[in-house]
Amino acid sequence: MVEAMPLEFFERLPKDAGFADRFGRRLSYLRISVTDRCNMRCDYCRPAPDSYRAESHAKMLRYEEIGRIVRVAAGLGISKLRLTGGEPLVRRDLPALIERLAAIPGIRDLSMTSNASLLERHAKALARAGLGRINISIDSLNALRFRRLTGGELQPVLAGIRAARDAGLAPLKLNTVLMRGINDDEVAELIDFAADIGATIRFIELMPMKQGMDWKRHYIAIDEILARRDVRARVDVGAVPADGNTAARYLPLRDGSGEVGFIMPMSSRFCEGCNRLRLTADGGLRSCLPADRQLNLRDLIRGGGSDDDIRSLFLRAALIKPEIGIYDFDAASPRRSMIHIGG
Ligand code: SAM
Repeated sequence: MVEAMPLEFFERLPKDAGFADRFGRRLSYLRISVTDRCNMRCDYCRPAPDSYRAESHAKMLRYEEIGRIVRVAAGLGISKLRLTGGEPLVRRDLPALIERLAAIPGIRDLSMTSNASLLERHAKALARAGLGRINISIDSLNALRFRRLTGGELQPVLAGIRAARDAGLAPLKLNTVLMRGINDDEVAELIDFAADIGATIRFIELMPMKQGMDWKRHYIAIDEILARRDVRARVDVGAVPADGNTAARYLPLRDGSGEVGFIMPMSSRFCEGCNRLRLTADGGLRSCLPADRQLNLRDLIRGGGSDDDIRSLFLRAALIKPEIGIYDFDAASPRRSMIHIGG
């Protein structure tokens, strides 16, 4: 049984195997949720306001605790970090965390995912602190639709996107979750918009997160999008997709101006190349997005745990990383909404 496998198993792996799981996947990427609070309420991500409770501030990892965890993780082989949430920019003084993380030896790629609504005034400070690049979520270019879907305003997001570009946060990526009957008619327009501002857009299949929107009604597979005439007019769908060792497959634009990414967690799982672990805002270490098992780093640290104890917990997370992430629709866990896990 997996649980019975001793940690020494990992200690005995050849050094050049790096930090890997039982299936030989090297783990080099940690996604860190810095808050479970958000200033938007995207229908696919967050439970209805009356059933949504953010954790108390005292339960959130402090910046020095995140820094310590990352130092240990970097010692194991984690080299790539992405800050997420909730909305990372609602956490106070985020540049201080970025500066701390960027200075850790071994961290070579430091990025963030944001809804960009607060980015216009923070982009330069983030870049100065050491943020390398940013992915921005934008699900519609129609202001009314945007407001209905997210509860936020489109204009500040557009200003945030421009500010990120001007601050040199590159490459600039945009993320759009595709939803049938909500925004699937905007794909061509979003591709043109991204090309105009010099960004790469990625379309993401809707995942059935707990308390998210009605997945069966709104899910649309990327294949269906790629069959559409206005999309085929722009995207070379016959090209061999470049996978670039990420979750996204990229296809070139026909006019040669760039590429478009497609992230298909539902129709074409990318578990085989998964190199990720996740740290929730309250210190849970998870090895798979849909698998609910998590290990409690916060209690370990606050209970006086040593760096070696932290390291052991990372090794244990690798040990329990499932081969395949399974999205089951009826699981009764309270933590399955994206805003709690960190997207
Ligand atoms: N607030 C930030 C933002 O808006 O990008 C970061 C957090 S958000 C949870 C991170 C990413 O998760 C976003 O790109 C969002 O679109 C994606 N996401 C959330 N729920 C999803 C779902 N049910 N299916 C697919 N993607 C989802």
